[in-house]
Amino acid sequence: MKIYVDTDSCICSGACVLEAPELFDQDDDGLVKLLQPEPPAQLYDAARRALSACPAAVIQIVED
Ligand code: SF4
Repeated sequence: MKIYVDTDSCICSGACVLEAPELFDQDDDGLVKLLQPEPPAQLYDAARRALSACPAAVIQIVED
């Protein structure tokens, strides 16, 4: 799995961090920071939850 985020379109909701704090953080302005672009398998479900929760649809996941 690979995760991509379009930071320019992030609206700083923080939903991704709530769903997957191991994978996402926010900078001082609230913009998403992707912590693990290639997460371990045990975090795949969390990554998918974050994708579903993002209100701006700026998270993309490419499954292997
Ligand atoms: S859930 Fe989406 S819009 Fe909200 S901080 Fe994360 S990437 Fe940005």
